[in-house]
Amino acid sequence: MRRREEDEAVASWLVAAGRGGEPGAPLNTPLVPASNFVLGAGRAYARSDGTPTWAALEELVGGLEQGHAVAFASGMAAVAAVFAELGAGAMVTLPEDCYQGVSGLAEAGRRQGRWSVDRLPLEDTAAWIAAAGESDLVWIETPSNPLLVVADLAAICAAPRRPGAILAVDNTFATPLNQQPLRLGADVAVHSATKLIGGHSDLLAGVAVAKDEAGRARLAAARALAGATPGALEAYLAVRGARTLALRLERSQRTALLLAERLAAHPAIERVRYPGLASHPTHAVAAAQLAGFGSVLCFEVAGGADPADAACRRVRLIRHATSLGGVESTLERRSAVPGQEHLPAGLVRLSVGIEDPEDLWRDLARALA
Ligand SMILES: *Cc1c(COP(=O)(O)O)cnc(C)c1O
Repeated sequence: MRRREEDEAVASWLVAAGRGGEPGAPLNTPLVPASNFVLGAGRAYARSDGTPTWAALEELVGGLEQGHAVAFASGMAAVAAVFAELGAGAMVTLPEDCYQGVSGLAEAGRRQGRWSVDRLPLEDTAAWIAAAGESDLVWIETPSNPLLVVADLAAICAAPRRPGAILAVDNTFATPLNQQPLRLGADVAVHSATKLIGGHSDLLAGVAVAKDEAGRARLAAARALAGATPGALEAYLAVRGARTLALRLERSQRTALLLAERLAAHPAIERVRYPGLASHPTHAVAAAQLAGFGSVLCFEVAGGADPADAACRRVRLIRHATSLGGVESTLERRSAVPGQEHLPAGLVRLSVGIEDPEDLWRDLARALA
């Protein structure tokens, strides 16, 4: 496994990582559908020891975060591996606004008596600093889903923690190109590679990146015990998709800012939430902390659920679909999703793809007319 040089740009690393280097070796890491290996060279069984295809994805994402990565079957499998490190009666601090799968997992464990859960608003940095000293797991998602609140990661990561406590950051929305939590002092960064890393809405995969080798070994052990292993094809596709991540993200977030500005001036729109807009409550932290404001934005359609649903049905180029981070733009009304009824009724989340920005704007403007 190659490690990224400190000064190697991410765009270069994305292209170079995980490739074979021996003369005669295939340029691309082969898709290896193997459960077991000939004994004698370290790797025996895939579930416990990994495969060359998973290793390529781990090398790539680990190099982006400057940490030690473990690939998983999905983002939630990576999340669950971090929670699996908690002992009985642990205290978990979670954002009020957070991916529903993560709050669902935390809530299920709380009901089973495995841990307690305290939820805090991400923008309340002082509350997070205080919680860091008392929690066994500080779970931060920034920017958060779907309200795109940005936490002051540097300040929270610098706060004293309990011995053995874990500070984990769900870095799915930012990607390691916009933010590197481990460099700011987090213990583990988690990704749904299903989203921007894969980038084509054709796979489920996750990656957890530990700050050190001991952390990696714990995550790999959790993966082996839970059987939360990525598929060979999925790992291969995630690497292939990640090759263009820098290009896709640059394009998508430039378009996202343009659409956010135009939507904010549109009479049918009550409010736009995008960390790149000066009107966003955590814009200042976002501007200081993020290299880019991301490819996802939310807008609230005046009149609530019905006009928002109508707009979602009327788009043609943009697809009415859930999830995010693909080359194709997608949107959905979030409070229509079961478990998300607490969100503003007219709130639509738009994941901006790589289409022509003016075509996307025409599509939105027509749908809102
Ligand atoms: C999608 C997502 C997850 C879960 O990932 P899956 O690959 O769907 O399991 C976790 N966190 C965030 C922020 C996500 O968007």
